[in-house]
Amino acid sequence: MQVLEDKILREGEVRPGNVLKVDGFLNHLIDINLLGQMADELNDKFYADGVTKVLTIEASGIALATAVAERLGVPILFAKKSKTSNLSNDVYTASVHSFTHNTENTALVSKKYLNTNDNVLIVDDFLANGCAVNALISIVEQAGAKVAGVGIAVEKGFQGGGDALRQKGVKVVSLAIVQEMSESSLTFRHEEA
Ligand code: 5GP
Repeated sequence: MQVLEDKILREGEVRPGNVLKVDGFLNHLIDINLLGQMADELNDKFYADGVTKVLTIEASGIALATAVAERLGVPILFAKKSKTSNLSNDVYTASVHSFTHNTENTALVSKKYLNTNDNVLIVDDFLANGCAVNALISIVEQAGAKVAGVGIAVEKGFQGGGDALRQKGVKVVSLAIVQEMSESSLTFRHEEA
C-alpha cells in the first residue's frame, strides 16, 4: 500500500535488533486518516470471506483491528496478555514470545466470546517471526472456530513469519512488506495477495 510505504520511509526509524519504530503514526500517536485507509484496504481484501469476528492481541493491534471490524460490521475481540500462567478454566490460552520486549506472555481469550461458528480474521500491527499470530491461530483452533485470514499493517518479510503462514495455506494480507532494513535504507517487497 503506497501511502503506508511512503509514511514508513518518511517517518519510520530502524532501531537495533531489527525493530522498526512507527510511534509517530501507528504505535503511539495514531494517524486516523492513514488508519482508515488501511482498514478500507483490509476490508476490501476480506469482506467476501464471511468473517464473523476480528481478533487481535493487546495493545497495539487494537486500533487497526477496531477500524477493520467496524467496516466488516463484526465485533472486535482482543486477547489479553498475562504474565502468569495461573489462569481459570474459562479461557483459551497460548504463550507468546514478545519480539520487541524479549519477554514471555500468555495470551488469553474468554471461552464465552469464541465459538465453533466463528470465522475469524486475525489483525495485528506487525508480523515478524509470527509468534503473536500463531498464538492467536492456536486460540481460534482451540475454540473449534475457523481462521478466515490474517491482516497486517507491516510485515517484516525477512523474518519469515508471514511466508511460513502462507506456505501452510493461510490467507495473509500485509499492507507493507519490508524486504530489508538498516539504519540507512529500507526496501519493500511487492506481491499479489
Ligand atoms: P512476531 O510475534 O510476529 O515475531 O512479532 C509481532 C509482534 O511483535 C507484534 O504484535 C508487534 O507488536 C511486535 N513487533 C515485532 N516487530 C516489531 C517492530 O519491528 N516494530 C514494532 N513496533 N513492533 C514489532
